[in-house]
Amino acid sequence: MVEKVEKKNDIKTYDVIIIGAGPAGYTAAIYTARANLQTIMLAGDSPGGQLLLTSEVENYPGFKDGIMGPELMDEMKAQALRFGTEFRSDFVTKVELDGDIKKVWVGEEEYQAKTIIISTGASANWLNLKNEQRLMGKGISACATCDGFFFTGKHVVVAGGGDSAMEEALTLAKFASKVTIVHRRDEFRASKIMQKRVKDHEKIEIIWNSTIVDVIGENFVAGVRLKDTVSSEEKNFACEGLFVAIGHTPATKLFTDILDMTEKGYIVTEPSTATKIPGVFAAGDVADARYRQAITAAGEGCKAALEAEHFLQNI
Ligand code: NAP
Repeated sequence: MVEKVEKKNDIKTYDVIIIGAGPAGYTAAIYTARANLQTIMLAGDSPGGQLLLTSEVENYPGFKDGIMGPELMDEMKAQALRFGTEFRSDFVTKVELDGDIKKVWVGEEEYQAKTIIISTGASANWLNLKNEQRLMGKGISACATCDGFFFTGKHVVVAGGGDSAMEEALTLAKFASKVTIVHRRDEFRASKIMQKRVKDHEKIEIIWNSTIVDVIGENFVAGVRLKDTVSSEEKNFACEGLFVAIGHTPATKLFTDILDMTEKGYIVTEPSTATKIPGVFAAGDVADARYRQAITAAGEGCKAALEAEHFLQNI
């Protein structure tokens, strides 16, 4: 039987602190709170993670007609709260993970727990163009679901060749007059079904073997500058919006020099969700450069919760 709450210097010691609130974090919370473990989620300022940027989720089991990403996140949060999870929309600023009691800070405020589940996810990459930041929100976006409506009747460009780029293009095609996908190679890496939907869509065209080297526009995007990766020729291409969909970076800065990371900054977990520090687990996109699906993240969150519970039973 796990002891619930200890008081030390007036700081409550939780059984589990979950950092980050996407499918992995929420699922972990559902499991730990339901197992009667004192659980708090420190969720950051955009709880819900990448699914907030997704439109319809068609491949999450149990929703045969699909469900909107934000709605799925709301449901998961409500389910976690139902079992007594405490929830704060605060950013963790510092961690100290060694020792039996792990310490986590939100600014000056300290939280303590016997186990930590890291589920901070990953966020969108940008092209790092000269005028990209200046025109951010003025025609540049990484979220078609959030901003697609503003491009009704307009011509937009999508950068990328993975599933995200396909999804962005298909979402945008519901609003835009035309969508042009610019990809740096001559084939997509996206799944075949998404590629087919894009290639079959009458409003979507593809420019192969090209990179975007800058965005053009004074107060709003008026075009992009394209460079042919074969001939090195450059030309201006008129459009009224740019959606960047070129992959993600894991949110692991907090754990630099504390946990082992891959070359791309994903937390190394072995075996299962265990990090190199006993009692510290990582789940979801933060430790998964390969699958990055809501369902795999949820599965990992479940594993992390069960592994945290097992760890607590053995101390
Ligand atoms: P991704 O699979 O890593 O694809 C990134 C794309 O952006 C690649 O085509 C890459 O080109 C291109 N790219 C990267 N850096 C670039 C740069 N600096 N300039 C120009 N192009 C650049 O990332 P993702 O599309 O975000 O997908 C991530 C994971 O989530 C994948 O496993 C994907 O299957 C999954 N996902 C699934 C769904 C779904 O099932 N509904 C939806 C979204 C994402 P190269 O191909 O040349 O490397």
